[in-house]
Amino acid sequence: MTTVTLEGKQAPDKEKPKLQQLTRTPLASSPREIVRHNFELAAHVLGLTQEQKSLLQTPFREVRVEIPVRMDDGSLKVFTGYRIQHNGARGPGKGGIRFSPAVDEDEMRSLAEAMTWKTALANVPFGGAKGGINCDPLQMSQGELERMTRKHVSRIHRLLGPYRDVPAPDVNTNPQVMAWILDEYSSRNGYSPACVTGKPVELGGSLGRQQATGRGVTYVLAEYMKDWDHSLRGLRVVVQGFGNVGSNVATLLEAEGCEVFAVSDIFGGIIRTDGNALNIRDLAEHVKKTGSVINFPGTDAIENEDLLLLDCHVLIPAAMECVLHDGNAGKVRAKVIAEAANLPTTPEADEILHDRGITVLPDILTNAGGVVVSFFEWTQNLQQAHWDEEKVNRELYRYLR
Ligand code: NAD
Repeated sequence: MTTVTLEGKQAPDKEKPKLQQLTRTPLASSPREIVRHNFELAAHVLGLTQEQKSLLQTPFREVRVEIPVRMDDGSLKVFTGYRIQHNGARGPGKGGIRFSPAVDEDEMRSLAEAMTWKTALANVPFGGAKGGINCDPLQMSQGELERMTRKHVSRIHRLLGPYRDVPAPDVNTNPQVMAWILDEYSSRNGYSPACVTGKPVELGGSLGRQQATGRGVTYVLAEYMKDWDHSLRGLRVVVQGFGNVGSNVATLLEAEGCEVFAVSDIFGGIIRTDGNALNIRDLAEHVKKTGSVINFPGTDAIENEDLLLLDCHVLIPAAMECVLHDGNAGKVRAKVIAEAANLPTTPEADEILHDRGITVLPDILTNAGGVVVSFFEWTQNLQQAHWDEEKVNRELYRYLR
C-alpha cells in the first residue's frame, strides 16, 4: 500500500499552541480525566479564577435510579439508570441517552460536562446533560427495551421537560427509543413533543436529524480541508463504528467523492486491500441483513485496534471514548483525525498526535451537528412548524461554519 500524503499541499501556517506549558493532569485514560484535562487547558487560556472553575465544573444535579424490568423469560431484572444535568445557565439540559454495559456515573458525568461546552460552542440555547442505563441492549428483545425505557422515564420524568432537560439518541438508542420516551412523558405531563429530540418524523421529529451528526462531521472536515486548498474528493478515509454516526458519515463522505476503504463495529473491522473504496450503500444493506459489517463480500477482516493505525488521510473514530491513547497514538498514520465520537482521544494521545503534526478536529465541534439539529427540532416543536430538509441542512451549515 502506498503512503498517503496531501500531495503538493502546504500545511496551514498556524502557530501551534504550547500545550506543554499548560497545566497537565498525569496519565489519563478515563472519560472523566479527558474532560478535566481539556477543561484545565481552556480555563488556563481564558484565565479563569479558581471560583469560576469550581462553579463551571460542578454538576448541577445527578440522579441515579433503579429500574426493575420483567424480562421475557418471566424473571425480574433491576437495571441502574442515570441522568446528569451538568449546567443549565444557557438553557434546558441537552444530551443523549445511552444504553450500554459501560454506563456508569463517571461516564455520564463526563459526557454531560462535554455537552455543556458543546452547546455553548455551537451557540444553541441549551445547557449540558447526559443519561443512560447500564444494560446490554444487544442481548435484549424490543419488548424488554421498551419496558426498561418506559420505567426509566417514569422514574425521572419530573426532571425532564421542554424547558428543563431534553434527551436525544446516543449509543444504542434511536428514534424508536425516543418515541417511547415521548409517549411515556406525554402520558404523565400532557402532549409534549419538545420533551425529546431525535424522534421519528411522524411524531414531530425533524427532517435531517438522523443524518445530522454525520453531516456535521462532513461539513467540519470540508471546512478544515479548505485550509489545505483541498476538497473532500479523493480523501482516503477510515471509520471506526458503523452505527448512526459512522454509517451516515461514511455515506455522506462517499457522496462527496471520498474513498472510505475500512470500517468497523463492535464485532470487528473490514478493509478493502485492493486500493478500491467500499460501496457504502451495499455495506449498509449487509449490516441491515446480518447485524454487522463483518464478512462483507470483497473485504478482508481487520482488528479494531489495527484499523486505527491504517495509512489514510482521515481517521474518524465514531464509536466509543478513549480509543486513541498513549499506547497507539505514536503509531497512528492518519493525517487528520475527525472526532465524531465523544471523547475518543486521551490527553496523552492528544499531545503525541500534536507533536507528530497530526490534526485532531475536536468532538465538541466535529460532532455538534446532532445537537444543532436537535435545537432545530425543539424549536420547530415549540412553534408547531415544519422545516424542509434543505432548510435544516442549510441552517446546520451556517451554525457549524
Ligand atoms: P450507535 O449505537 O448508533 O453506534 C455505535 C457504533 O459503534 C456501532 O456500530 C457499534 O457496533 C460500534 N462500537 C461500539 N463499541 C465498539 C468498539 N469497542 N469498537 C468498535 N466499534 C464499536 O451510536 P452513535 O449514535 O453512532 O454514537 C457513536 C458515537 O458518536 C458516540 O461516542 C456518541 O456519543 C457520539 N455522538 C452521537 C450523536 C448522535 O446524534 N447519535 C451525536 C454526537 C455524538
